[in-house]
Amino acid sequence: MDYAIKIENLTKQFMGLKALDDLSLEFPSGQTTGLIGPNGSGKTTLMNVLTGMLVPENGMIEINERRFRKIKPNTLRRLKIARTFQDGRLIEQLSVEDNLLLPVAENRYWHSLFEQHIERYRERLENVLQTVRLADYRYKNAEGLSYGQRKLLEIGRALMQNADIYFFDEPLTGLFPETVQDIVNILRELKQKGKTLIVIEHNMNLIEQLCDYTVVLDSGRLLAKGIPAEVLADEKVREAYLGK
Ligand code: ADP
Ligand code: MG
Repeated sequence: MDYAIKIENLTKQFMGLKALDDLSLEFPSGQTTGLIGPNGSGKTTLMNVLTGMLVPENGMIEINERRFRKIKPNTLRRLKIARTFQDGRLIEQLSVEDNLLLPVAENRYWHSLFEQHIERYRERLENVLQTVRLADYRYKNAEGLSYGQRKLLEIGRALMQNADIYFFDEPLTGLFPETVQDIVNILRELKQKGKTLIVIEHNMNLIEQLCDYTVVLDSGRLLAKGIPAEVLADEKVREAYLGK
């Protein structure tokens, strides 16, 4: 199998607590991986390490066959990695449109002010506004959106980056079924385009529906990995959830 990301012996501690404990695993290229595990098992920490928000104490990260000790912001851009945040990172006083443009505004091409670049982002902006169903709300400030719309806008921000690898931290939590379906469709479309997706999600039915592969963490360690149906039927995986 082809891997987009491979980690070896990753350790990340918070004042003695090992959020990631000598963790080794891999995310298959062009597939959707469900990253699951009980609360506090290290899922978000792993995402933070892989997107350069946290620096691990130990271990190796391999992305597209290049090896790193830590990920820097420009590495993310070069490797075309985008993410969403569990708690959302919208700028409340900015419009939907500006929230979408912000992630690409950090891209140096934006500053070059060549017309074709601006045009390229305009077109992408229109597409993303349609995809996340926020075209009618483009001039509205983020603070005025519903919870579901906020989650969609958060996803739109990742889509604007036109990445190869996407991390989604609980994109479906707390949503009405209709919005869940909208977002599942967006993720499926990314998958069809051959993108690599890593999705943190608690709903096992959705994991089975959406994912080709599953990784289960428990106390910062690997509990199981493999095909969702098999992993979810695993006795120790069931115990890790029910035991909580
Ligand atoms: P998950 O996303 O699986 O629920 P997290 O990765 O958020 O888990 O957390 C893993 C562990 O690390 C938890 O015990 C959590 O309390 C701890 N942790 C996470 N981030 C921090 C932080 N910034 N400072 C201190 N402890 C943290
Ligand atoms: Mg989390």
